[in-house]
Amino acid sequence: MVVGDIATGTDVLVIGAGPGGYVAAIRAGQLDLDVTIVEKDAYGGTCLNYGCIPSKALISATDVAHNAANAEDMGIHADPVVDMQGMVAWKDGVVNQLTGGVEKLMKANGVNLMQGTAEFAGENTVRVAHGGEGQGSESIEFDSCIIATGSRPFQIPGFEFDGEHVLSSRDALALDEIPEKLVVVGAGYIGMELSTVFAKLGTEVTIVEMLDDALPGYEPDVARVVKKKAEELGIEFHFGEAAKEWRKEADGMTVVTENKDGETSEFKADKTLVAVGRQPVSDTLNLEAAGLEPDEKGFLQTDDQCRTDVGHIYAIGDVAGEPMLAHKASKEGHVAAEVIAGEPSALDYQAIPAAVFTDPEVGTVGMTQDEAKDAGFEPAVGKFPFMASGRALSTGHSDGFVRVVADEESGFILGGQIVGAEASELIAELALAIEMGATLEDLTATIHTHPTLAEAVMEAAANARGEAIHTLNR
Ligand code: FAD
Repeated sequence: MVVGDIATGTDVLVIGAGPGGYVAAIRAGQLDLDVTIVEKDAYGGTCLNYGCIPSKALISATDVAHNAANAEDMGIHADPVVDMQGMVAWKDGVVNQLTGGVEKLMKANGVNLMQGTAEFAGENTVRVAHGGEGQGSESIEFDSCIIATGSRPFQIPGFEFDGEHVLSSRDALALDEIPEKLVVVGAGYIGMELSTVFAKLGTEVTIVEMLDDALPGYEPDVARVVKKKAEELGIEFHFGEAAKEWRKEADGMTVVTENKDGETSEFKADKTLVAVGRQPVSDTLNLEAAGLEPDEKGFLQTDDQCRTDVGHIYAIGDVAGEPMLAHKASKEGHVAAEVIAGEPSALDYQAIPAAVFTDPEVGTVGMTQDEAKDAGFEPAVGKFPFMASGRALSTGHSDGFVRVVADEESGFILGGQIVGAEASELIAELALAIEMGATLEDLTATIHTHPTLAEAVMEAAANARGEAIHTLNR
């Protein structure tokens, strides 16, 4: 304890109130544990304030305008005017409603809320510095601690975020004027989602990506559908090029890129969004004081009950490793709280779905065909194109497909990849199928409402069995 500290105690101390931390705190409260959560910024963390929710709100809003402006085929002629400040105000309203809700839920579950920045002062103590001059600090003694400090965006040398020329995703989501020209560094899911937003608002978007395809980590035929539509929206891709430097111009900036042969190219822009991945926030926690050591990338290694090497300290969410997704953080929050309460809870990473909210969307879960082979399965694969779906055609969004991967012998569903409208929703059926040990026969035998996009999941499963009705069988 330092002089002037006030010391308090709690059963469970949660550091960080993102979708990992606030879920852990609420679950611990439900389990009658005395729980305190410390947050240095805003309740809801990256996800609610600067990530998932504001990005999806802007994606939805720009879709309204884009779809209205592109509905001539449906006999609709419209020329929507986007009031960017109005759109941003609406997006902020959505965020505030949700963050306010999270605060109320935590309080209603008996969680003690504390604003401040926490760092370890020992194996059972953190010191919380309260913001603002003269606000002081306090020490909190805990029996168990859950670290849920999340992640921050990577910066690339020479492209430090300044909020004006070089933007992080957080800066880009707060823009209240539409840039005329935007360079986006990185064609991962955040770069692709935000490029789509700005392209639909009329910005000339140029994406610079060091690798040779968009959406690295996703299968080429999935990425191809998204890239084709992005190009139709006017997005220009430059693969195999790394952002090297930039200079200020009277009317914006020039970004210089370099390929592997050392050849340079220049792109003019008003602003540059750097979206090249995220790194765990573990370096500000004075981990040594608690006897903790992160791995070389800064992640805290945990077991299947979210325990670190120090048995009573748990780590969840982005700080505990890939995949850096909100629902993975929340699941780990549940598990950590339940384990602390003495319940036999544990993680099962077999089926963590992931979604990319591009146009069209991507949803994946479990194994790809290649991963199934590598794992020793003989994969049975079925595919159904949305072009053959009555519902997809009747919404005017028929790009993409559903693919289901199963074990040939047993029929067990191993994974699925969906690219198309509502893929983020549709993937839930395949996640449930994997979780419940469902087979191709189960999916095929389940009566799906007609006409819906979900029928495509049933048809893909039937296709894997050679029984699809609305597409030719394999
Ligand atoms: P965070 O949400 O990052 O929360 C950590 C909290 O800890 C923060 O509030 C921080 O202020 C606080 N904190 C840190 N250090 C301290 C300290 N020392 N003391 C006190 N408080 C501290 N994921 C999805 O699943 N779906 C999506 O569609 C999606 N879209 C995204 C879009 C964007 C633009 C971005 C940036 C991310 C997106 N993500 C998405 C990722 C998602 O936001 C993260 O995976 C998720 O927020 C991780 O949750 P977390 O609880 O681990 O950490």
